Amino acid sequence: MEVILAKEMGFCWGVKRALELAEKAAAQHGQVHTLGALVHNDQVARRLESLGVHVAENVAEVAGGVVAITSHGAPPQVAEEAYRHGLTVVDTTCPFVRRVQRLAREMAEDGYTVYVFGDEGHSEVVGIVGWSGGRARIINSADQIDPDARKIGLLSQTTKNLDAYRHLAMEVMRRSLGTCFEVRVHNTICDATLKRQEAAALLAGQAEVIIVVGSAKSANTRRLVELCSAQGVPTYRIEEAGEIDFAWLRDKKRVGVTAGASTPNWIVGPVVDTLRRL
Ligand code: SF4
Repeated sequence: MEVILAKEMGFCWGVKRALELAEKAAAQHGQVHTLGALVHNDQVARRLESLGVHVAENVAEVAGGVVAITSHGAPPQVAEEAYRHGLTVVDTTCPFVRRVQRLAREMAEDGYTVYVFGDEGHSEVVGIVGWSGGRARIINSADQIDPDARKIGLLSQTTKNLDAYRHLAMEVMRRSLGTCFEVRVHNTICDATLKRQEAAALLAGQAEVIIVVGSAKSANTRRLVELCSAQGVPTYRIEEAGEIDFAWLRDKKRVGVTAGASTPNWIVGPVVDTLRRL
């Protein structure tokens, strides 16, 4: 069986950095509570637990010590609340997410009606809205734009699809012409996501079947599955090597492997080894 690996896959720089910061803090302070999961992957979560990195849903759950804000970021009130509780805060917000938060705050302060192309309830989006002072609105279609807005600022959740964002931005501009003085569009989509999506699309053109390694809870893993399936290639998501169903590979000569941004190499490696042995 020929195994073709996606050119870009697995942990992104921001997630790697967040894990390193949390592990370092746990080694230094004995234990750390992250506010939400650092990555949506159960195997990684178990490994972190063994290193003293635990998950808490909110600040109130943490009795003392250190809390870590995840790479997705959080509204500024979260760190403020942690300080009020006497906790030490380790902020692992990815610098790319930090940029979106900063833009949301600056544009809201400058009188723009700020829109975020994002998923309602996603922690990154909740954080961005928080940094705008609660003023940014979440949209998924140009229909949701206020026709009376005079200055519009448009941002995107970092993991959104660039083409979809481009389409939305063009539609917002088309509809606002004549009523709006200014539409400011920032490309805040993360390169890492885009590169993984492009590499997955390329892979789908080369392989007869695709295996995506990652958790069902991971939005970017699900997106990779959608992307490959949309190209008509049978695509299967697994969390670990043991979940490979050999019936998927019957009569196939080339299998492509990619992995979501929350899947580390030590999980992808055994999958590749298993497939290469076939
Ligand atoms: S996907 Fe991009 S924005 Fe998100 S954590 Fe990774 S590097 Fe940062």
